[in-house]
Amino acid sequence: MCGVFGVTGHKDAARLTYLGLYALQHRGEESAGIVTYDGKRTRSHQGMGLVGDIFGEGSLRSLRGSIAVGHVRYSTTGSSLERNVQPFLVNHKRGHIAIAHNGNFTNTIELRESLEEKGSIFQTTMDSEVIVHFLAQSKIKDYQQKVIEALKSLEGAYSLVMMLDNVLIGARDPHGFRPLCLGKLEGAYVLASETCALDLIQAEYVREVEPGEIVFIQNKTIESIKPFPKRKHSFCIFEYIYFSRPDSNIFGKNVYLTRKRLGAQLAKESPVECDLVMPIPDSGSYAAIGFAEKSKFPFEIGMIRNHYVGRTFIQPSQLIRDFKVRVKLNPIKDVIKGKRLAIVEDSIVRGTTSRARVRTIRQTGAKKIHMRISCPPIKSPCFYGIDFPTKKELIAAKHTVKEIKEFMGLDSLKYLSLEGMLKSMLLPACEFCTACFSGKYPTEKPKKFSKKILEKKR
Ligand code: 5GP
Ligand code: MG
Repeated sequence: MCGVFGVTGHKDAARLTYLGLYALQHRGEESAGIVTYDGKRTRSHQGMGLVGDIFGEGSLRSLRGSIAVGHVRYSTTGSSLERNVQPFLVNHKRGHIAIAHNGNFTNTIELRESLEEKGSIFQTTMDSEVIVHFLAQSKIKDYQQKVIEALKSLEGAYSLVMMLDNVLIGARDPHGFRPLCLGKLEGAYVLASETCALDLIQAEYVREVEPGEIVFIQNKTIESIKPFPKRKHSFCIFEYIYFSRPDSNIFGKNVYLTRKRLGAQLAKESPVECDLVMPIPDSGSYAAIGFAEKSKFPFEIGMIRNHYVGRTFIQPSQLIRDFKVRVKLNPIKDVIKGKRLAIVEDSIVRGTTSRARVRTIRQTGAKKIHMRISCPPIKSPCFYGIDFPTKKELIAAKHTVKEIKEFMGLDSLKYLSLEGMLKSMLLPACEFCTACFSGKYPTEKPKKFSKKILEKKR
């Protein structure tokens, strides 16, 4: 997963991008970068870690120009290396190119092989790099045609924000897997993965960049082209379940309200007699509100999150069992002790975190623990940009719900049904990709798809 942002026609382009990335931090905590162009030269500042740590007054001041693109990264293809930080920037004799990508191409290996045959030398293991090679090799004069040609060979998922000299470009693949929206601020256009980034800079939401659409923005004017054959929409449903921020609207609909509906549907499908409904914060909180409202049992916050847990802390691993889980979430004894709980969680991936949390809650003295999950069992890997583990590690791929319940030490465990999940959406069911739940992939599965293949090639 990743977050992308871009702005053009604004004197504070870099600063706005910094704020945009700050709002999109949840989409990737591994690295971040901003590239700007002032009409003469490009400037770039990138690093590993959080946006707030990477950029300072000095770096923002040096990022001159009225056009900027930015990226926060959560590695999907390509390993966690400094050279894999985006935006990907190339200063080429035919122009300056910067690319920020959210998604995953499903034909990267084939594209790389054919480009390498023609002499390309790849700098990174990121799939986004192929676009740069297509653009740099192209002999087409018209820049719009050049971009269209480069994107034509891509398959899979992409929401892209690109800079081609002084032109800002936004593009979404014809299936529309990942979100991308368009905003406006003081006459300048803004592109962002989610609307929460527009809100922070007080930009006005204009519309979604549509599936299969490319927008070219120059001098405060925007041109839209839809050069690709129409495909069935495949919006990532997991964006609503877990990934996006609840204060965002993605694909045109609000995430918070959708999560509440998921919770209400879950209560309808799998009610349970309990003393209180409590979420696993923060991601489970919104579905839990919907669940409690619908089931009419009292809602309580039964565990409190420590918001200051960084990526690294000294782990007294031998001393304290489940330390990583305990340091992040602490149950409130006086709320939980002796109670029958319905705990609501957005999703289970590997099952390991949830298991440790259940153990902590049990030790706190809960009488019964019923767990409710606001999506169906995740059984299949994602080829479109969500960093799920391999099938082997997905607990629901190998185990029945009953087995998972036993493994977690629960009194009962229920998942939301696929139909129930789709019914809870504020868009028609046919708009979504549900491959991770249903195993039905909207595109051909990649012939070769492996981080390891790319790594081995280096
Ligand atoms: P598990 O029990 O599967 O180990 O962890 C489940 C928890 O991981 C849930 O709280 C859920 O919100 C969270 N989660 C779901 N998907 C992702 C993801 O793609 N990345 C991260 N970091 N957490 C996730
Ligand atoms: Mg969570």
